[in-house]
Amino acid sequence: MSGLSYVSRSNAGPWTTYLAQVERVLPYLGRLERWAETLRRPKRALIVDIPVEMDDGRIEHFEGYRVQHNLSRGPGKGGVRFHPDVTLEEVMALSAWMTVKNAAVNLPYGGAKGGIRVDPKKLSRKELEKVTRRYTSEIGLIIGPDKDIPAPDVNTNGQIMAWMMDTYSMNIGATATGVVTGKPIELGGSLGRFKSTGRGVFVVGREIAQRMDLAISGARVAVQGFGNVGSAAAELFAKYGAKIVAVQDHSGTVYNPAGIAIEDLYAAVQRDGGIADCAGAERIADEDFWDIETEFLVPAALESQIDAARARRIKTRVILEGANGPTLPEADDILAERGIVVVPDVIANAGGVTVSYFEWVQDIASFFWTEDEINKRLDRIMIEAFAKVWETAQQHGITLRTAAYVVACTRILSAREDRGLYP
Ligand code: GLU
Repeated sequence: MSGLSYVSRSNAGPWTTYLAQVERVLPYLGRLERWAETLRRPKRALIVDIPVEMDDGRIEHFEGYRVQHNLSRGPGKGGVRFHPDVTLEEVMALSAWMTVKNAAVNLPYGGAKGGIRVDPKKLSRKELEKVTRRYTSEIGLIIGPDKDIPAPDVNTNGQIMAWMMDTYSMNIGATATGVVTGKPIELGGSLGRFKSTGRGVFVVGREIAQRMDLAISGARVAVQGFGNVGSAAAELFAKYGAKIVAVQDHSGTVYNPAGIAIEDLYAAVQRDGGIADCAGAERIADEDFWDIETEFLVPAALESQIDAARARRIKTRVILEGANGPTLPEADDILAERGIVVVPDVIANAGGVTVSYFEWVQDIASFFWTEDEINKRLDRIMIEAFAKVWETAQQHGITLRTAAYVVACTRILSAREDRGLYP
C-alpha cells in the first residue's frame, strides 16, 4: 500500500486505485524505474481552512485542498472540485491522474488538483462566492499562471473561475487571466472549452471504432452522468448517428432502446435539474443501467463506479472513461478478460485540459483563436495521442490504460531524470 504516513492504510479509495495502476507500468519503464517512487508521492499538498459568514450570520468552516502531484514537466494543472465527499486522498489521486493525463497528451504541464468539501447546492450564490474567494486566497500561496493553474471540475464552472481569477488578481494587484482556465469568454476564456472534454471523448471513440471495425452510426451508447462531459459526448455521438439508449445521473436512470433525443434530455435538465423525467424514455432502476447492451459505455460521473461485480455484467464493446478513475483495478482485469476495451480517462477525457492549455496559451499571448481552429487543434492532439497509446498497447500486448501510463510515465520520469535532484 502507501508509504505515506498521512495516507490511511485501510482505505481502498482512488489513491489505492492510482497506486495499483502505477504498479502495472513498472515492468515497462526500463532504467527509469529508478525514479518511479516519485509517482507515488505528491510533491506538495496544501490543506486550507475556509471560514465563511453564512447568510444567516453563522460562521461555517469548510476544508479545502490543493495538491501538486508532480511539476517535473511544467506548472501544475488541474481542476477544482466542490463536493461533500471530497477528501485529501481523493484530491491526491485526481492530481496524480492529471500528471499522467497531461503527459499522455504531451501538454507542458505537471499535474495538480483542488477541492473543497462542500455541497454547493446547499449554498446561496453569495455564500458560494465567499467560499470560492477565500479558498482562492488561501491557495494563492502556491497557484499562479506559471506555478499551478486551476480549472473547472465536478460542480465548478465559468462563474467560479471568474471569481477565482478576480480574487487572485486583486491579491497580486494586477489582472492575471492566465491563473485559471475554463473562464467566461469575456475574461480570457477560450471558445470550445465548455464542450471540449465531451468532444475529446467522442473523438477517441471514433478513433477506436475505426480500429475495431465498429460503426458510430447506429451504435448504441449508454452514458453515466449528464453534466458537462456526458452531455457533450452524447450530443456528438447522436449527431453522428449513434443512439443514446440509456442515461443515468443523480436524479435517476432512463432507457429507450430506440434512442433518447438529446433535446429531451436537455429539456429535462433545464426543467428539473436532472434527466429522470425525460420525455420519450422509460425510467428504470439505477442498478439496471449496468446490464444494458451497448457498443459504447461512457462513465462520465465520479470515481469507482465500475467494480468487479459490474465489470462481470457490463455488455458493451468499448468503455470510454469520461470521468476520472471510474474503473477499479480488479474490474480492469475482468473487462480485459472479457474482451471489453477500456479507453482510460487519461486519454479519453483529456480534451478538457487540452483546450485549457489552449486557453492559457491564448491568455499569455493575448491573442485569441477561432472555435474552428481550436476544435481542429484539439482533434489533432487527441488523434495523435490515441494513436501512440494504441501502438504502445499493440507492441507490448497490454491494455490501453497501461499503455497510456507507459507513454506518460516515460515522459514524466525522463523529465525528472534530466532535471536531476536538487540539491
Ligand atoms: N477537470 C478537468 C480534468 O479532470 C480539466 C482540468 C483542466 O482543464 O485543467 O481533466
